[in-house]
Formats: sequence, C-alpha cells, structure tokens
Amino acid sequence: MLIVKNIAECRREREKLGRVAFVPTMGALHAGHLSLMALARRHAPKVAVSIFVNPTQFGPKEDYTKYPRPVESDLEKCEQAGVDMVFMPPPEEMYAPGMAELVVDLPQLSSVLEGKHRPGHFRGVCQVVAKLFNIVTPNVAFFGQKDFQQLRILTAMVEALNLPIEVIPGPTVRDPDGLAMSSRNQYLSPTERERALAINRGLFLAAGEFKEGVRQANRLVTTVQHVLLEQHLSIDYVASVDPITLKHADQVNGPTVLAVAARVGNTRLIDNVVVG
Ligand code: AMP
Repeated sequence: MLIVKNIAECRREREKLGRVAFVPTMGALHAGHLSLMALARRHAPKVAVSIFVNPTQFGPKEDYTKYPRPVESDLEKCEQAGVDMVFMPPPEEMYAPGMAELVVDLPQLSSVLEGKHRPGHFRGVCQVVAKLFNIVTPNVAFFGQKDFQQLRILTAMVEALNLPIEVIPGPTVRDPDGLAMSSRNQYLSPTERERALAINRGLFLAAGEFKEGVRQANRLVTTVQHVLLEQHLSIDYVASVDPITLKHADQVNGPTVLAVAARVGNTRLIDNVVVG
C-alpha cells in the first residue's frame, strides 16, 4: 500500500493506477469507513483513501484539535481493506499559507439542517472535497448516507461543476445495538453512550409508525423528539425533509428523510432514516 503525503507525489502515483475508486475520510476509521472501502473495491480495480482532518469544516468552538488521529491503526485498517493508495497530507499541503480563499457553496442545500447549526461547515466540506477530487482525480467516489446532507451536497457539487466523477452512496453502518458508527462516539462515556441510543431508537420507532400507516411527518418527528427528551438529549433539530431539495416535508408522499442532530453531554451526534 502506497502512502503519499504531498500533492505532486499523489498526482504522479495516481497516473499509474488507471480506474480509481476514492473514499475521502478524516481518519479514526471504523466499520462505516471500511464498508465504503469494500464498496469501492467492487467499482474499480484500484482504491484510494484520503485521511485528512480538514480544519476549514470545523467551527471555532468545535473539536478540530481534539479530533482523534490514530494514524498507525488507521493505516493498518486501510492495508487490511486492500487499499492501494492512502493520501494523508499535512494541513499546510492543502492550505498553503497565503493561498487566496476559495468558496464553493450550494446555498440552497447548505443553509438548512447541519448548515444552519454549523455555519460554514459545508463550505469547508465542499472546499476540501473539490480540492481532493482535483488532486486524486477519481473515477468514482463514495460517501456515507449517515451524513446524508453532505452526500446530497457533494452529489450536487459534482453535477454543478460537471466533474467527471460518479458519486455512490454507502448505507449507514451501525453497532449491534443500533448506534450509528461515528469517530465521535469515542468521546461518549458508557452512560452517555446508553443515552445516545435514544437517537436510533427514536428514528426506528418513527419508521415503524410510518410502516403502520402514519403519513403526517410532524407525527413522526414528534415521536423522535419524545424519545430524545426522555433521555434528556439536547436537540439541535429533528426534521422531515425531501432527500433531493432538503426542504421540509409535511406528508410522506415519497422518500422522506427523518434527520436528527442532538447533543449527549458535549458530544454532538447526527443520524437519519429514510421512510417512504
Ligand atoms: P468522516 O471520516 O467522518 O469524514 O467520514 C468519511 C466518510 O465515511 C463519509 O462519507 C461518511 O459519511 C462515511 N461514514 C461515517 N460514518 C459512517 C457510518 N456509520 N456508516 C457509513 N458511512 C459512514
């Protein structure tokens, strides 16, 4: 497995690879990331992974400095997953001092849900993924449905910029008790982790109500809110939205995303399910 840390070397090595499937990550790899790598292997003979904790997508009061960076074990996991190339640039390589600011934004999609609660977050995500796409020039790229708004925005970015890259979603991978895997789960104490289960429990309870015939999205949202409040989680939002426009959905008439962002102690978690 090739490990490259600078852009010029990444371009040189990429040229030798032919068709490439790409999985961008911030490291602290778990089974969710590994499932994207496995999916990537089915779509191209060569798999590239980036590990880069992108400073521009963190707010000033967020966890950029304390975000976990277990480099050695991440590289082992990539190796075991059969990854061909890992691109892990230091921050100065991606953001050279003095480089002019670049804004890539899809305001209709980035101003709601996560974007409303994390101002500038998706500008940072679009900026770094646009740069990574230009450096790695993959044929196909993989993103998790766990971050469904990110997936939607990056799909729209590729379309809006006419990038010759296919974006493929991967399903949310969960721990056996249902908690969506996240690098941030390791911040949770055992009791916080128990309380965090309210997020998936609430979403699955609402999905069950949908299956039993409930079509009013507000009722499904209320169900989720109740379960979260029982565990005293602090709710950023519980929303029902159209998966393409991300606009509020009143009724479940077609695919509808129920999305949650909530805090357990100091840890902010997100999750979602699709109904309809
Ligand atoms: P991150 O390292 O958090 O930036 O995530 C890198 C990629 O892994 C993104 O496309 C995420 O959506 C995806 N991902 C994170 N957690 C999960 C999960 N539990 N299941 C599936 N994909 C995930």
